[in-house]
Amino acid sequence: MEFAAAASEKHEIVIIGGGICGLATALALHRKGLKSIVLERSETLRAYGGGIGLLPNAWRALDQLGVGSRLRSMAVLLQGGRDILIDENKERKIEHVTGESRCLQRSDLITTLADELPIGTIRLGSEVVSIDLDSITKTPRLLLTCGSYIDAEIVIGCEGGRSKVAELLGLKASRAFDVGVIRGLTTYPNAHSMPHELHQIRKGEIGVGMLPITKHLIHWFVALPTHLLSGDKFPHDPKHIKQMALELIKDFPSNIYETIELSDLDSMSATHLRYRAPWDLLLGTMRKGTVTVAGDAMHVMGPFIGQGGASGLEDAVVLGRCLSMAMSGIEGNNKKEKIAKIEAGLDQYVKERRMRVLGLSTITYLIGIIVGSPSPLVKIVAGFILVILFRDRASHVHFDCGKL
Ligand SMILES: Cc1cc2nc3c(=O)[nH]c(=O)nc-3n(C[C@H](O)[C@H](O)[C@H](O)COP(=O)(O)OP(=O)(O)OC[C@H]3O[C@@H](n4cnc5c(N)ncnc54)[C@H](O)[C@@H]3O)c2cc1C
Repeated sequence: MEFAAAASEKHEIVIIGGGICGLATALALHRKGLKSIVLERSETLRAYGGGIGLLPNAWRALDQLGVGSRLRSMAVLLQGGRDILIDENKERKIEHVTGESRCLQRSDLITTLADELPIGTIRLGSEVVSIDLDSITKTPRLLLTCGSYIDAEIVIGCEGGRSKVAELLGLKASRAFDVGVIRGLTTYPNAHSMPHELHQIRKGEIGVGMLPITKHLIHWFVALPTHLLSGDKFPHDPKHIKQMALELIKDFPSNIYETIELSDLDSMSATHLRYRAPWDLLLGTMRKGTVTVAGDAMHVMGPFIGQGGASGLEDAVVLGRCLSMAMSGIEGNNKKEKIAKIEAGLDQYVKERRMRVLGLSTITYLIGIIVGSPSPLVKIVAGFILVILFRDRASHVHFDCGKL
């Protein structure tokens, strides 16, 4: 498409999506002296989903972004975890929670990242309707719902699992697991008595997780195969979501029931889990011209090993590093040369991230099948492949995305 001469704004770097990854990417670029704007469609910064468990690799990335110490003060350190299998009357230590693990309130993470950005970086209520590349110059042009255009030198799609930018790159649409999750927060004005541990409790096909955030706040989730939902649908209203969660866990121990019963209605959410297929990640195009993707837009994955948000933070650090290196080598006003250098920087980013997120996505894909499939045979085969391919399932938390 060749663009008509319409009035439009021009920006060097535009990030679409003001979630964890979009804000972290803007911060990474800001720390490297690169100015960007973040277009977020919501009227407020969204912090949907209650809490988020962050493992050592996420903390390494947050330290590189310069927000690790501030965030550490907002959540207790988790000292391992426990798996409790009610039907088998068994309890075992969770091996993969090693090193620094904390569960943050999502709103704390989002607000902290946003607070570090220069005023004017985040544009709320700015929804991107479409994105096109000029057929001659390959310059990306964004159309917003308000009818205005933005011409950008670089576009980074961080708009989550249903990304328009991923579509432009030719990536296949993300798919739904047969697994749904209800999440929420429970506040204890007089402190709770839960140890500083992740607890995962399973009964039949339903799993419950509990993570303390502070001594007054617990994040919990209920995971279930979607065939247990009538009509395959979650209700939208928080009251009904809570009722559904309570109904699902009515045979669980009373302390779990009480935690969910006491939960804050405005923290309640229910969602079907999505993923980008590992083979699409392996073979898909992640850059077109000076446009790329990061976070869930690139690699939406199941939350089973707590790595979706963490890998979005890693993306931000690597992207910040690669772009700043590429752009520091730009001299003079030769536009062609500038674009070639930016493209090389984005290729380096994609190269560094592809195999990392492929590994994480493959693990979560297999676990998603084990949790969601009603067929015992399919579960066994997926479990077998998981054991063969990923003997050390904790190794992903030791990953270091490197210096910003
Ligand atoms: C149940 C569950 C539990 C999870 N638990 C963990 C965990 O414990 N640890 C962990 O690391 N990860 C976890 N994750 C994954 C983590 O939540 C995600 O990976 C992370 O939130 C993705 O961030 P993002 O910024 O890439 O995308 P999103 O959070 O989806 O943000 C995208 C943003 O883009 C905006 N947007 C979308 N379209 C447009 C548009 N056209 N124009 C402008 N703005 C747009 C949206 O409004 C949104 O604000 C979990 C996920 C789920 C579903």
